[in-house]
Amino acid sequence: MKTDVHVVVVGGGIVGASILYWLAKLGWTDTLLLERRNLTSGSTWHAAGNTTYFGPYAEMTRLFAGSIRTYLQAETDSGQSIGFHQTGSLRVATTAREREQFHQFEAGYRALDIPYHVVDNAVINALHPCINTDGLFGAAHTPTDGHVDPSSTTHALAKAARNLGAAVELQCPVQSVIKEHDHWRVETEHGAVRAQHVVMAASFWTRELLQPLGINAPLYATQHHELITDAVPELADLDHEVPAFRDSYVSCSMRQERNGFLLGVYETDPVFWALDGIPPNFKEELFAPETDRLMPHLEKLMARVPAFAEAGIKTINNGPMCWTPDGLPMLGPVDQQHPNLWLASGFNVGIGTGGGSAEFLAHWMVHGQPLFDLPIVHADRFGNSVTTDQAVKSIQACYRQGYRLPESI
Ligand SMILES: Cc1cc2nc3c(=O)[nH]c(=O)nc-3n(C[C@H](O)[C@H](O)[C@H](O)COP(=O)(O)OP(=O)(O)OC[C@H]3O[C@@H](n4cnc5c(N)ncnc54)[C@H](O)[C@@H]3O)c2cc1C
Repeated sequence: MKTDVHVVVVGGGIVGASILYWLAKLGWTDTLLLERRNLTSGSTWHAAGNTTYFGPYAEMTRLFAGSIRTYLQAETDSGQSIGFHQTGSLRVATTAREREQFHQFEAGYRALDIPYHVVDNAVINALHPCINTDGLFGAAHTPTDGHVDPSSTTHALAKAARNLGAAVELQCPVQSVIKEHDHWRVETEHGAVRAQHVVMAASFWTRELLQPLGINAPLYATQHHELITDAVPELADLDHEVPAFRDSYVSCSMRQERNGFLLGVYETDPVFWALDGIPPNFKEELFAPETDRLMPHLEKLMARVPAFAEAGIKTINNGPMCWTPDGLPMLGPVDQQHPNLWLASGFNVGIGTGGGSAEFLAHWMVHGQPLFDLPIVHADRFGNSVTTDQAVKSIQACYRQGYRLPESI
């Protein structure tokens, strides 16, 4: 293992791998990614892989768009497929007000040169015949997004970074990060590494790794369910893959997975995991499914997508998902007292935003300023005094918000 590098990246999920890749693209190849177990061993391996462009913050859309661009480039550079399905996405309008808000985003998407249209129910029916459009007010349609295979994508990013000279060390848990004069000492189970810069991309584990430095990063994990159905005849009969679909009333996302559906649910009362600390013996296992909590959403979904009501459930995954109090990632320098210590943690849509966030952060590290102005994600925005209780209340509110747009937009 290398023992003296310019940058150590802690964590080999999609975010850490994206950062290693972007640093290498910008010429920083004296780098080492340290991963506790294997690439994707955190939340990345069980993610649905959705990479939509739609979001309530126009500025965040740049991170979404940058992510698909990054993953496709890594695919080309590495020769490793990322499994991108360009199905497009539909965000249905369940009220006239929602449709009005969708129209307000049109100029923003035009400025970013991202195809975006507010469409009527007839278009929804043509694109996704399984959706019952009764009572809907059309949808926002982003035809060029879709989903990737998160595991293949992470491996493509790491391989492309390695090809440029970056190093990856697996089965190498970081034990502590210590400031020494003009550099950092990163202690691992296999010895120490000296580094000028350290990037913490260890999701909810980052909170614990930073605590000994007196840094209180409000990063906590909720449980999050995704369900995969058996084959659905209505899908098998189609000559195209249906777009991903999101619905604020149902509080679900749904996309096609082979000839079945894959759906994720934002419950009304999210359940947290490991608020008192991540169990040291946790590897990457899933939690037991708790379907009772999902039922009110699934019942609404059966009305919206009648074919779902007929489908058998093949798989239910319940895994940890990292959150910050405002639901946005923490990106950038931790604070002025800890120079060259960077944060890239707190992603609840890390597949959707990981690649673009890495581009944003790598520019900041290499060129001294971020790629563009995006203070809503800056790592120091919470200060150091958010209590667990305060964070939990804020995260509950964000999670419960699901796909409803903030009224201020
Ligand atoms: C059921 C489910 C479905 C989801 N679907 C989607 C989706 O469709 N689209 C989307 O955008 N997001 C989705 N997500 C969220 C997505 O999984 C995460 O946002 C994303 O994987 C976060 O990536 P990450 O790299 O920040 O964290 P992780 O993937 O958790 O990676 C962190 C890494 O750090 C490593 N690590 C931890 N501690 C140490 C240490 N001490 N030393 C070294 N390494 C360490 C871990 O082993 C891990 O590999 C879903 C989540 C769940 C639970």
